[in-house]
Amino acid sequence: MKTNLAEFIRDTPEGREANSILRACVHCGFCTATCPTYQLLGDELDSPRGRIYLMKEMLEGNVVTAKTQKHLDRCLTCRACETTCPSGVEYGRLVDIGRNIVEQHVRRSPVETLKRVALRAIVPRPALFQPLLRIGQALRPLLPAALKRKIPERTTRNLDWPAPRHPRRMLVLDGCVQPSLAPGINPATARVLDRLGISLIKDETAGCCGAVTFHLNRQDDGRDYMRRNIDAWWPHVEAGAQAIVITASGCGTLVKEYGHHLAHDPRYAEKAAKISALSKDISEVVLGEKDKLEEVILLSTQHSALSPASEAKPRVAFHSPCSLQHGLKIRGTVEAILVAAGFELTMVPDSHLCCGSAGTYSILEPELSRRLLKNKVAALESGAPAVIATANIGCLTHIQSGTAINVKHWINVLDERLT
Ligand code: SF4
Ligand code: SF4
Repeated sequence: MKTNLAEFIRDTPEGREANSILRACVHCGFCTATCPTYQLLGDELDSPRGRIYLMKEMLEGNVVTAKTQKHLDRCLTCRACETTCPSGVEYGRLVDIGRNIVEQHVRRSPVETLKRVALRAIVPRPALFQPLLRIGQALRPLLPAALKRKIPERTTRNLDWPAPRHPRRMLVLDGCVQPSLAPGINPATARVLDRLGISLIKDETAGCCGAVTFHLNRQDDGRDYMRRNIDAWWPHVEAGAQAIVITASGCGTLVKEYGHHLAHDPRYAEKAAKISALSKDISEVVLGEKDKLEEVILLSTQHSALSPASEAKPRVAFHSPCSLQHGLKIRGTVEAILVAAGFELTMVPDSHLCCGSAGTYSILEPELSRRLLKNKVAALESGAPAVIATANIGCLTHIQSGTAINVKHWINVLDERLT
C-alpha cells in the first residue's frame, strides 16, 4: 500500500513503524474472514482492512473523527487477523499507535472517560481491586442474575507453595487481578514445576504487567509498570533465575513486548530486551521438560487406584486465548500436554475466535462481548466436556459467567491430575 504520512508523525519512531506496517498491507482482505467483529457486524470498517484504512487516513493527516474512534474501540485486539494475514502485517502494533493518536484528538463523553479512569485506577491495583471484589462476592446472593454472573464466585483452591529446594529457579509474575480472582493458579504452577525439578519464586514488589493501562491508551504510564517489574526482577535475573514464568497469556504477550516498548529508553532498553527473552508462558516451560513430565505422569498413574487402561479419560474442552494463539503464537502446546496427561480433548468449533473478554472489552463493549461469549460457550459445550480449561484469567472468568461447567486454568487441571 502506498503511504504519505503527515509531518506530525513521519519522522518519529511510531511514524516509521506505522509506515512500514501500512506498506506491508496489500488490501487482499483475507483477514476479514477471521475477524470476530466483522463476522458479527458485517461492516468493512469493523474489519482489520477497514481499520487499517481508517488509521492510514489519520496518519496521513486527515481529520480524526469519533467514527474512527468507534471502529478502533470495537476492535478486540485479538490479533486473529495477524494469524491469517499472508503479508505479515503487524496489526496489533499499528492499532496501538492508531489508538494513541485518536485518544489525543477525540474527546470521550464524561461517562466513557469515567469508566476508563476507574478501570485504570482499580484493575492494576490489588489493594483496591480485592476489597471491591470481596464486597461484590459478599453481596452476590442478593444481586439480580445478570449482575450476579459478572461477579465470579470466591473459589477455594489449594494454595500450598513448595519451599524452594532445586538449584533450577524461575520467577513467576503474580499480576494484578489473578491472585484475587483465582488465587490457586500460581501455587498449582509452583507444585507442577517442583515435580519437574524447578523451584518457582516470586517477588512481591513486581505487579501488574502494564497491559490494562497501556491498552487504555495511557502508554507512558503503562511503560512505568514495565520499568517497575524490570527493577523488581533484575536482581533475580542476575542471581540466575532461568525464566520469568507467566500463567496469564494476556500478560505474557505484553511482557514479551517489553523490549519493543522500551527500545527507545536508554536506561531500560537492554534490560527490557533481556526480560522479554526470558519470559515464557507456562506451557512453554512445561513442554520444555517433556521427558521429566512423562516420568511424573507415569508415576502418578501407577499410584492411581485405577489402571490407566481401565480409567475413562476425563473430557476437557480447551479454550485457547487469543493472546496465546495469536499474540504469543503458541498453538497446540497446551493441548499436547493435556493429552499426554491422559485427558481427552473435545472438538471446539471456531477455536480461533475470541470469547469477548479481551482485557477490559467486556466492560467497555458489553453488547459485542456478550454475543461473542454466547457463541464461544456454545462451541465449548458442544463436545460435552466435564471441564473447560483455558490459559488466561480474563477468559476464565468471562467464560465462567456464561456456563455452568467448571472453567479452570489448564495448569490446575494438570496439577489435580498429578496429585
Ligand atoms: S490479510 Fe493482511 S495484507 Fe490482506 S488486507 Fe488483511 S492485513 Fe492487509
Ligand atoms: S484484532 Fe481481532 S477484532 Fe481487531 S481487527 Fe484484528 S481480528 Fe478484528
